[in-house]
Amino acid sequence: MDLRICHLYPDLMSIYGDRGNVIALTQRARWRGIEVEARPHRAGERLEPDRADLYFFGGGQDQGQDVVSKDLAGPNGDALRRSIAGGAAVLSVCGGYQLLGREYVPEAAPAIPGLGVLDVTTRAGKVRFVGNLLAEAERGTLIGFENHSGRTYLGPAAKPLAKVLVGHGNNGEDRTEGALQGRIVGTYCHGSVLPKNPWLADLLLLWALERRHGPVTLAPLDDADELAAQRAAAEVARTRP
Ligand code: GLN
Repeated sequence: MDLRICHLYPDLMSIYGDRGNVIALTQRARWRGIEVEARPHRAGERLEPDRADLYFFGGGQDQGQDVVSKDLAGPNGDALRRSIAGGAAVLSVCGGYQLLGREYVPEAAPAIPGLGVLDVTTRAGKVRFVGNLLAEAERGTLIGFENHSGRTYLGPAAKPLAKVLVGHGNNGEDRTEGALQGRIVGTYCHGSVLPKNPWLADLLLLWALERRHGPVTLAPLDDADELAAQRAAAEVARTRP
């Protein structure tokens, strides 16, 4: 069995340790004997619609998001929409999450169009949300670090990934964090998010492997260290929000 990962715009969209998510996905697959190919896609290159099983789309500054949005406005956006419709899984963090929605409106710049595969819309606020982000998802605890001015609001086709316990999450108002729609995950958790939240890493691996290999069962890993790190980070978030 093999897994193909595409790291979207690693030069523009990979801040606050986000590239660690590709490392976590790669390692958790390899520890199970699954061969992994991880390839970058940069603006101006041609994105192959039928290759990747799993995309990682990290966070970035407004300027980088503008460049990425333009790259996704043409054939590359059609290819990515087609790939997702064909069953590819996506983990998107912060700026990448925002660009999978309808649009991201910076505070003092024109709206940046999104890919429109997530039923969310984002508008920048005056105050940045910066700090530890602790939330509870159906499948487990979610812990990370947030740093964004964007306020993201979910439409009916998207459901929240988790409920905020500490921090701001999507918009600092409705206590929601992230979004789930089909096999797309959006989150504001930087950190990187996957090493300390192994349940999310394995959910993405399952979805991605099922795309070409059909129903898959992942052998359990010894996540004692990962869960100890999650508990320690959650404790810090609770005591020093
Ligand atoms: N530029 C976006 C914002 O400020 C995303 C930032 C990020 O990816 N951390 O909301």
